[in-house]
Amino acid sequence: MSVVGFDFGNESCIVAVARQRGIDVVLNDESKRETPAIVCFGERQRFIGTAGAASSMMNPKNSISQIKRLIGRQFSDPELQRDIKSLPFNVTEGPDGYPLIHARYLGEMRTFTPTQVLGMVFWNLKSIAEQNLKAAVVDCCIGIPVYFTELQRRAVLDAATIAGLHPLRLIHETTATALAYGIYKTDLPENDQLNVAFVDIGHASMQVCIAGFKKGQLKILAHSFDRSLGGRDFDEVLFHHFSAKFKEEYKIDVSQNARACLRLRAACEKLKKVLSANPEAPLNIECLMDEKDVRGFIKREEFEQISAPILQRVKAPLEKALADAGLAVGDVHMVEVVGSASRIPSILKILTEFFGKEPRRTMNASECVGRGCALQCAILSPTFKVREFQVNESFPFPISLSWKGSVPDAQNGEAEQEQLVFPKGNPIPSVKAVTFHKTSTFSVDVQYSDVSDLQAPAKISTYMIGPFPTLRSEKPKLKVKVRLNLHGIVSVESATLLEEEEVEVPVSKEPAKEDAKMETDEKPNDTSAPGANETDVNMQDAKGTAEAAGVENGVPQSGDKPVQMETDTKVEAPKKKVKKTNVPVAELVYGAMVSGDLQKAVEKEFEMALQDRVMEETKDKKNAVEAYVYDMRNKLCDKYHDFVTASDKEELMAKLQETEDWLYEDGEDETKGVYIAKLEELKKQGDPIEERYKEYSERGTIIDQLAYCI
Ligand code: ATP
Ligand code: MG
Repeated sequence: MSVVGFDFGNESCIVAVARQRGIDVVLNDESKRETPAIVCFGERQRFIGTAGAASSMMNPKNSISQIKRLIGRQFSDPELQRDIKSLPFNVTEGPDGYPLIHARYLGEMRTFTPTQVLGMVFWNLKSIAEQNLKAAVVDCCIGIPVYFTELQRRAVLDAATIAGLHPLRLIHETTATALAYGIYKTDLPENDQLNVAFVDIGHASMQVCIAGFKKGQLKILAHSFDRSLGGRDFDEVLFHHFSAKFKEEYKIDVSQNARACLRLRAACEKLKKVLSANPEAPLNIECLMDEKDVRGFIKREEFEQISAPILQRVKAPLEKALADAGLAVGDVHMVEVVGSASRIPSILKILTEFFGKEPRRTMNASECVGRGCALQCAILSPTFKVREFQVNESFPFPISLSWKGSVPDAQNGEAEQEQLVFPKGNPIPSVKAVTFHKTSTFSVDVQYSDVSDLQAPAKISTYMIGPFPTLRSEKPKLKVKVRLNLHGIVSVESATLLEEEEVEVPVSKEPAKEDAKMETDEKPNDTSAPGANETDVNMQDAKGTAEAAGVENGVPQSGDKPVQMETDTKVEAPKKKVKKTNVPVAELVYGAMVSGDLQKAVEKEFEMALQDRVMEETKDKKNAVEAYVYDMRNKLCDKYHDFVTASDKEELMAKLQETEDWLYEDGEDETKGVYIAKLEELKKQGDPIEERYKEYSERGTIIDQLAYCI
């Protein structure tokens, strides 16, 4: 079984695998540790990862990047609208209100969902891991930003399914970092708690997490974030600065040219990196636009001035994390920075001033998330033995259930009721039960109780619960189980109809009860998970009144006898019999791919991957023909010289020349089969010569050996 961790960044991805001796970050085809998150659609195949990045400058309109920003968002999302303005490819609104990416592939314009494109990226990462492990990879852990909404989490899972992966957990990136930090620490206190703040400033976002470490465990005390504060915002500032300058100085408007935009952005990113180590930096681009070479220059001071509006935002997530953790600055013992954009000196200065101490860089900033993911996968995998270490994760958003209640509302007919189920900071995973008193099929919405941090619609999903038979004698009681799973996804898992009857004296003195009552009497099933959380907290009841017909007056009429019963054996006292019946629960899905679509996407990905493989193999076969031509030509003039007649040699040389010409002309773009046939044709003439040579050399060695024996 595979034990693999994937960190998919906005820009680049890391693949880490667990081996018995530790975690390794594996190299891709080009021997690089980081693989760009890019899919480039071509006329004959796709180029993904490093190959995609190489093709993107030539083919910017069909090179899809920044996928992490696009998945699981509605087209109308203002952040998405802002993001797509700077993308070189075309994104439009699909019929379902979600974005569609347009690209020219196999000679025609096609559309892909962001989830499909992420599936392609995962496919590529999966094959990197498989080549390294020499085994199939299915089980894995994938890092996600803590601010990912339910839709984004589901989109990541769908993309993983498209790539044939089975994530054991989607783990928050900062938590993965904290795990990679803590698991190897041998000096963690037994009783005290070591509080460490992790600050990750990546390409597009900033995340902060404060974790408390003790021997053998970590507990997340708080998560905070700014979803759109990252390295690229600094690139953007430089981009606008220089494009305005060039408009004035060189009379060129780069915004009118996709390739020029891309090149200027890339140059600005480079410039930003240079400014991290130097007080000033030049910017020179040859032939940027209209055949004009441009030159620019900027000092770090000026860069800091023009990026002041971004720098001002760095402090807010830090303050929020401290407040949510209930800590004072002095309670944070250490600050660790990760994410490459944190290399900007002015950001480090802000962090140092805020925490009153120098942030450290003990972690490998680009690899720690991937390593943490692989560690988490190893902890969850039954095949792996890992040091005992518990990860007590906390969920960043409060989740509630809402439903139409029975209390008449003067204006709206039925009043909307809401019950907080998982408060902010609730442990992950967790299961809670809410009891409803309903007489017929009803629907509940799962929703965010507070969307101020989110910029997402409050509603997550809707569940229809029912139908269920009701006994006239009873006020039906429905126990609805709500699960917050390891991925941070909430679902209504099951509903059970509980019907109580008192057998001996069938007179009820029951008072009218609430519409819904919440219990947290469940222990989660995911006990294999680190820090599976017991939720024995008792929550306050929701407001509401009874609506079941049978209890309207508080005296139920006699009803049917229950079928399955939990019986008592004492005779005198009234006894309770409980009949439990499973009630159907149906989810109405928003945004996530329904299973039929997902299956189609899986098949489509398989087809495209097959096409890529055929093209790769075709290239290999073509290269084999070319290599044979050069190799045979050399050998005919050299070691095969004495093993071929002059006329045969001449004939074969002519054939080789003819093949070489063909390769650059008519045969440039042939099918795999044609190249195979071509090679065989050449070998028919070449093989006998090669055999004669081999025979002679072997005989030579035998004679040598005989001479040696004598
Ligand atoms: P995200 O975490 O947002 O999903 P990511 O993981 O791909 O994205 P990182 O690799 O952590 O992001 O950071 C990439 C960003 O860091 C880019 O914007 C890059 O330009 C910037 N960066 C890299 N090196 C430096 C440097 N020396 N100085 C300043 N910025 C840098
Ligand atoms: Mg990152």
